[in-house]
Amino acid sequence: MARMTHATLIAAHRGGLFLWPENSALAFREAAGLALEQAECDVHMTADGEVVVMHDATLDRTTDATGPVAARTAAEFRQTRVRGTAGEAPPTLAEYLAILGASPVAPRIEIKGDGARRPYPGIVRRTLALLDAARQRERSWIIGFNAETMAEAQAAGGLAGVAWLVEIPTLTDLGLDAVIEVARARGFAEIGMHESVLDAALVGRLRAAGLGIGTWGANHEASIRRMLDLRVDIFASDDPPLAIRLRAERGG
Ligand code: MG
Repeated sequence: MARMTHATLIAAHRGGLFLWPENSALAFREAAGLALEQAECDVHMTADGEVVVMHDATLDRTTDATGPVAARTAAEFRQTRVRGTAGEAPPTLAEYLAILGASPVAPRIEIKGDGARRPYPGIVRRTLALLDAARQRERSWIIGFNAETMAEAQAAGGLAGVAWLVEIPTLTDLGLDAVIEVARARGFAEIGMHESVLDAALVGRLRAAGLGIGTWGANHEASIRRMLDLRVDIFASDDPPLAIRLRAERGG
């Protein structure tokens, strides 16, 4: 049976951080075997220009090392160990793509800024080159909070989509009309907002503007059900198996 027009897709947030160490190869191997559509990761850039998978701009919280990712070479980054794994190195973007490559679960890559939230020079270009090398550009989403960075990805073309993530302060400062205007001017397919912000009125206004709607933060039963009721296009969840079960209960 064909999917409904607005069937809601599910992404494993950081690979599914309630279940596995976030952004680890272990998490992506597990997520790749689940009945969901995308596995979200976050990327930073090393001192020698490699794109690597980690949420924070520093190694401190999730590895056995300290300091900025940007201060390490890729080889040094690979010598660190992800907390909670059996001594695994944190993945490079190429490794993440290799893990997902054999599965129907598509990449959803959040491009982060450095510790001061400045864009890493060349990170979009390098990310796209890695997607091309893995032959996965056309099924991949690039997402992020920096509108300029997302505009660069959008202009490059060939992706499944680009989603601009809008933080609550940005929405408050700019207002929804200006957010929609920026998204339209840049050609973004999708706006991402935290689940707590979304209600039927906001979803209706984004839909009327022709924008797709992504969200994150839907990690527990009530918020997952709410996102399914609102028929957002995709939500990223820390608990992918729960999200899959709740979606299946209502027939997709
Ligand atoms: Mg993220």
